[in-house]
Amino acid sequence: MIKHTTGIVAVIISLTLLLSGCGDKQNTTAKAEEKQTPEQTYQWKMVTSWPKNFPGLGMAPEKFAQYVNEMSNGRLTIHVYGAGELVPGFEVFDAVSQGTVQMGHSGAYYWKGKIPAAPIFGALPFGMTATELNAWLHYGGGLELWREQYKPFGIIPMAGGTTGAQFGGWFKKEINSIDDLKGLKMRIPGLAGDVLKKAGAIPVNLTGGEIFSSLQSGAIDATEWVGPYNDLAFGFYQAADYYYTSVWHEPTAGLEFLINEKAFNALPKDLQKIIEVAARAVNEDTLDEYNARNNAALKTLVEKHHVKLRQLPQEVIAQLKVYTAEVMAEQAAKDAGFAKVWQSYQAFLQDIRSYNDITLKEYYQNR
Ligand code: CA
Repeated sequence: MIKHTTGIVAVIISLTLLLSGCGDKQNTTAKAEEKQTPEQTYQWKMVTSWPKNFPGLGMAPEKFAQYVNEMSNGRLTIHVYGAGELVPGFEVFDAVSQGTVQMGHSGAYYWKGKIPAAPIFGALPFGMTATELNAWLHYGGGLELWREQYKPFGIIPMAGGTTGAQFGGWFKKEINSIDDLKGLKMRIPGLAGDVLKKAGAIPVNLTGGEIFSSLQSGAIDATEWVGPYNDLAFGFYQAADYYYTSVWHEPTAGLEFLINEKAFNALPKDLQKIIEVAARAVNEDTLDEYNARNNAALKTLVEKHHVKLRQLPQEVIAQLKVYTAEVMAEQAAKDAGFAKVWQSYQAFLQDIRSYNDITLKEYYQNR
């Protein structure tokens, strides 16, 4: 009986201790919760060089904003603006640099007037393909060089999608010799414009939304844009008969996220990581989408809209390659930054091309 009573007392004491312990823990948790301030939220703006929600290009920033919102549970929300909604498409870089907005989405070659090396991170005539560019940027030192180039402007760049190989473009007349390029007014950005200039053409820089009316009115004779998926969306087949499939000027176009450095540094570490991971996801997603949709769009262009497909003659391609080498050498001689980035790009391309020649090139012919 005594033993039994002692047992009961022991149980009561243990329960009391346990309960009071629980109570202490609850109090501590409650106090900690009281001390916590509500989680800080951030509202960012992202300006772009594309029409709002344009397939591929314009959806990349929309997807990015969605991923960031979901991964951060609404702590970082980003409002995306199409070209001209907040700033014109070619003023994206300045808006991010000046801190008018926290982010931008664009193409690096649009900034060649400010940073001669910028086009190398986007697209070079006879340069890297999409997978090669991604490999150089993320495992070949390219991204570090890119950040070094944009640092003086207070901008952190990240790869923001890539289009895959772009078509030679839309022409009102056939191109049968290099002389057919003389006097030709063509919308073409980046260093490819300088290459065409050597052939006597007149390169014109227009944002996507401005191209169709210029082609239709005759203000330009030819244009490149992206490839079937995007070119169908703009309806270029209504303004030019010939669609050149030859890939030369943009074997891919690497897009970019531009992030204001101060705004990025003001974010907590987890939100910074979310931005980096979302950018990587969008970068891959964009290429997947182009690869999946280009062929169906090409069929529509040919079968429904009766577009005439053409290839540039080999002699034209060969001459454009000679002019490209001249343009690269001239740029490297003019600007030390260009020379440094070009050296890294060239070395990486030389290696990966040799590898791809004995693997993919042979496989494409064999399968
Ligand atoms: Ca293009």
